[in-house]
Amino acid sequence: SGLVEVKDVHFTYPGRTEPALDGITITARPGEVIALVGPSGAGKSTLISLLPRFYDVTSGAICVDGRDVRAWKLADLRSNIGIVPQETTLFSGTVYDNIAYGKLDATPDEVERAAQAAHAHAFITGFPQGYQTIVGERGVKLSGGQRQRIAIARALLKNPRILILDEATSSLDSESERYVQEALDVLMEGRTTFVIAHRLSTVQRATRIVVMAHGRIIEEGTHQDLLARE
Ligand code: ADP
Ligand code: ADP
Repeated sequence: SGLVEVKDVHFTYPGRTEPALDGITITARPGEVIALVGPSGAGKSTLISLLPRFYDVTSGAICVDGRDVRAWKLADLRSNIGIVPQETTLFSGTVYDNIAYGKLDATPDEVERAAQAAHAHAFITGFPQGYQTIVGERGVKLSGGQRQRIAIARALLKNPRILILDEATSSLDSESERYVQEALDVLMEGRTTFVIAHRLSTVQRATRIVVMAHGRIIEEGTHQDLLARE
């Protein structure tokens, strides 16, 4: 269903003495959008990297649908989690393959619909050979925003219950940002989402805001709650 429970999680990177996470507890109910905010080094990226088990907790536990992530079969766990990174690197191949990557049994119709919903459709069909256009190293170069839309189409096709986003802001022009934002809105619909939020608009729309510093949660609540406490 997309329930995520982070229970008193501590995490120290190998070779470090200072913990990156120092007792984090968050329950994300299905469909909730949790915005993670806080200064650089607060532990936001570290926290989201523990969900798909890029690292394992040092102590505490993370549960997805009531089950410790360490008890899941890794492939099953990851099939439930979609990730849109801050910047997307495409592999050299067709646009189609880049979208269908991770869901090889998808039909052309499904790929097309995902591309459409992610605003990745117009420029793809605009190409001389549509989806068969080769992108990546020696093929057509795509802008940062176009590559994000392909990443979003890929995530839509995968249809995960849980979503992890690191919001891109720096590299996109405002036109591109608008399309990427619209695509993300479609993608987040009904999915439990953890987003490292840089944009105020995302913070305002999140169902809950978690403010982190030094590996701890220093404030938590809705946008309204936090404003009222100022
Ligand atoms: P944020 O995403 O909020 O900027 P991070 O999760 O990246 O914070 O970093 C939290 C802490 O962990 C920082 O002290 C950072 O230096 C450290 N850190 C992050 N990544 C690594 C790593 N791969 N190896 C060692 N330390 C790391
Ligand atoms: P932006 O200006 O939006 O950050 P760029 O088009 O300048 O995006 O690309 C940033 C980086 O991504 C560059 O190193 C570029 O070579 C690489 N890149 C661009 N298009 C592709 C592509 N289709 N596949 C893989 N890498 C790409």
